[in-house]
Amino acid sequence: MNYFSTRNTGEKVSSAEAIVKGLAADGGLFIPEEIPQVKMEGLEKLSYPQLAAELQPYLLPDYDREFLKQATEAAYGPAFHGKAGHTVKVKDGMYALELWHGPTCAFKDYALQLMPRLLVEAKRMLGRTEKTRILVATSGDTGKAALEGYKDLNGIDIFVFYPNDGTSEIQRLQMASQQGGNVGVYAVEGNFDDAQTGVKKAFRDPAVEAQLEERNIRLSSANSINWGRLVPQIVYYFYSYFRVLEQENLPFGTVIDYCVPTGNFGDITAGYYAKKMGLPIGKLICAANQNNVLADFFATGTYDANRPFHKTGSPSMDILISSNLERLLYNACGDEKQVAIWMKELSEKGVYSVDEQTLATLREDFAAGWCSEEACAEIIGRYNEQYGYLADTHTAVALGVAEHFITERPMVVLSTANPYKFPRVVLTALGKEAPLSDFEAIEQLEKLSGISAPESLTMLKNMPERFKEVIPAEKITDIAVQ
Ligand SMILES: *Cc1c(COP(=O)(O)O)cnc(C)c1O
Repeated sequence: MNYFSTRNTGEKVSSAEAIVKGLAADGGLFIPEEIPQVKMEGLEKLSYPQLAAELQPYLLPDYDREFLKQATEAAYGPAFHGKAGHTVKVKDGMYALELWHGPTCAFKDYALQLMPRLLVEAKRMLGRTEKTRILVATSGDTGKAALEGYKDLNGIDIFVFYPNDGTSEIQRLQMASQQGGNVGVYAVEGNFDDAQTGVKKAFRDPAVEAQLEERNIRLSSANSINWGRLVPQIVYYFYSYFRVLEQENLPFGTVIDYCVPTGNFGDITAGYYAKKMGLPIGKLICAANQNNVLADFFATGTYDANRPFHKTGSPSMDILISSNLERLLYNACGDEKQVAIWMKELSEKGVYSVDEQTLATLREDFAAGWCSEEACAEIIGRYNEQYGYLADTHTAVALGVAEHFITERPMVVLSTANPYKFPRVVLTALGKEAPLSDFEAIEQLEKLSGISAPESLTMLKNMPERFKEVIPAEKITDIAVQ
């Protein structure tokens, strides 16, 4: 099984090549030429790392099975404290798939603990000897998860750029205290867009490419447009499905809905592939915050990014261009030329409209809604009080949207970040006045909820800050070639 671009199905590459390349030459995203069907027997008995080892070969057929077994074992073992894929009942009919028990306390660990290993192995398989330099612009969670995943890997270095004053204090300290001999972390003057634009400029600069090529270095990205980030995420849909069956004593085949807090549409796209691989998922519900471009798209068929950008309490979902939607568009319409036209309209005018048939096909698998900042705060308060469930702001957006779509079927809400990553907003939502320091907020939140904060966050208070440099966005290019 090979991969082709959403904008050109003629050129086929192996999964290893798709992971090394990241983006197709025509700007499209790699997708599998056919979706494999999973043999379900016995999967319910597997541990998380075992299940990951069993499922990855369906989508990475050119990788050695023994390698995948070791890689998944190493990725999802002790780093997840025995809680990989942890699925807990929140209330009748509703479960939370807690994806924040990994090293950086957000769901991006699932992809970024495994993908770096897939990349190193792909380079080995393809006989590539260049150094890979990863550049990441981050609003918080991706940067830290990528640093942890790529630190001290052979043949790789990584530079992360985050907006100065654009992250929570905890998120900033997570990155500023990063260990590892192959990492660099920079605060960029301005907002996330400034950092992102600076990184994109470095990627597109032919002078940068030429200078790096002389030293046998190639740039790469850790963004969720890379297929290597989606494959690992498919696993937890399977794992949580079996955990719900177990807890409800239901037979295989029972249809379950999933509600996913969405930004770049990566996480929910993994759910779509899980469904198409045979997992009995009913609806995949896309939950947006006030940046509700996706909710409008599923309501009208028009994707219109020309709208004000809102800074919300769920910053990892503050996104107006959801790149991974392109994969779904291809699967829904099956016409690469049409996808290329829509994407050109999006990049030139910021807006495109799909035809009725494509929209109808998308709606067979997806529903969508959004949650305001007020509703999100209300949800955090109510779920804490009524169900003893402390949700972070991103999870709360999904809980709020899920309430509108709940049926007699079980619903799994993806819980994407630990609430202690955003302690001040969560504390405010619980009706308290938040102190200025995140660490004080953590202490108050611990007293209030009776749940301890993860040590990886509380210990940040005493960690030396290794990276303190604040740079103008124009300097990103200099750093890329250093
Ligand atoms: C990245 C992120 C999201 C959004 O996921 P996408 O794959 O970009 O849709 C949601 N919640 C948290 C906490 C995140 O870090």
